[in-house]
Amino acid sequence: MRHKQSILLPAVRLLCAALAGAALATHAAAADAGPAVAPLPLVELAPGVHVHYGIHQPWSAHNAGNVANLGVVIGSRCAAVIDTGGSPSLGEQLRAAVGRLTRLPVCYVINTHVHPDHVLGNSAFAGGTTPAQIVGHARLGPSLAARAPYYLEAFRRESGTALPPETVVYPTRTVEDTLEIDLGERKLLLRAWPTAHTDNDLTVYDENTGTLFTGDLLFIDHLPVIDGQLRGWLKVIAALKLLAPKLAVPGHGRASADLRQAIAPQEAYLGAVLNQTRAAIAAGLPIQRALEQFDDSVTRGWQLADAFHRRNLTAAYAELEWEE
Ligand SMILES: [Zn+2]
Repeated sequence: MRHKQSILLPAVRLLCAALAGAALATHAAAADAGPAVAPLPLVELAPGVHVHYGIHQPWSAHNAGNVANLGVVIGSRCAAVIDTGGSPSLGEQLRAAVGRLTRLPVCYVINTHVHPDHVLGNSAFAGGTTPAQIVGHARLGPSLAARAPYYLEAFRRESGTALPPETVVYPTRTVEDTLEIDLGERKLLLRAWPTAHTDNDLTVYDENTGTLFTGDLLFIDHLPVIDGQLRGWLKVIAALKLLAPKLAVPGHGRASADLRQAIAPQEAYLGAVLNQTRAAIAAGLPIQRALEQFDDSVTRGWQLADAFHRRNLTAAYAELEWEE
C-alpha cells in the first residue's frame, strides 16, 4: 500500500495545486467585487431539482474551479445543496443561485466525495444565522483532513498568502451506510458506498422525482478518474446498474434518463484498463514499459484523456501489482 501511495501522491499534489490556484483566484475576485455575486446558472431537471453543469476541463485558474456538477433540491421546509463547487467564490455563486429559487434556508450541504471541485464551496453555506449541516460519507472527514494541508499549501504557494484552515469545511454529520433526510414533504436517501472512485463516495436519491445524484461514481463524456480502487469501482457499477432511477445526474456530464446505458462506456473503459493492466503485470512488464505498450484506443470518445488516462493506468498498476 505504501508503494501505491508513493506513486499516486505526486499526481494528487499536482491536481490539488492546480485546483487551489483557481479557487484562490476566484475567491480574490469575489472579495474585490463586494456583495454583488453573480448567481450560477441552474437547470431545473425535475420539479424542485436543479443542476449546475460544470465544464469539461481540469480544474484551473482559467475556469474558476467550475468543473463539477452541483445540485439543488427544494422541499417545503428547506433546501439541500449537493456539492458546492471548486472554490469559496463558486460556492457563493451557488448560494446566490439558490437564493433566486427560494427563500427557504439551505439546511443541508451534501458532499458526494472529497475532491476539491465538489467541496471547496462549502464555506459559503457554513456561516450566517442558519448554517447548513454538512453531510458526507463517514470517511470524508479523515480523507479531507489528510488532503487539506496540500490544498492549503497550494493556496499559499500560488498566492504568497496563507489561507486559514477554516477555508476547508468538514462534515458535521456522517453516513456509515444509509441516511434519510427530510426537506419537508421531500425525503432524500443518502447511501455510502465501498471504495470506488474514492474511499468516500456518497449517492443521493430524491424519492419525489426518482432522481439519483451519483457524484463521481458516474462520469459521462469526461474520462473517469481513478482515485480509490478500480476493482471496487467496477463492483459498485454493477450495483448501480441494478437501480432504476428516472434520472441520473453524474458528477461530470449531462443527466441521463437511462443509468444502465449511461454507465456502459465508463464500465467498458474501466474494464479495459483492468484487463490491460493485469496482462502487463502478468507479462512482467515494469510500469514504464507497461505505460508505453497500453492500447490508448480505449480512450476514444472520451474528453480529457490527455489529462487523466496515464494517471489512471498508473493507479491501476499500483493497485493490481499486489493483487492476489
Ligand atoms: Zn471526483
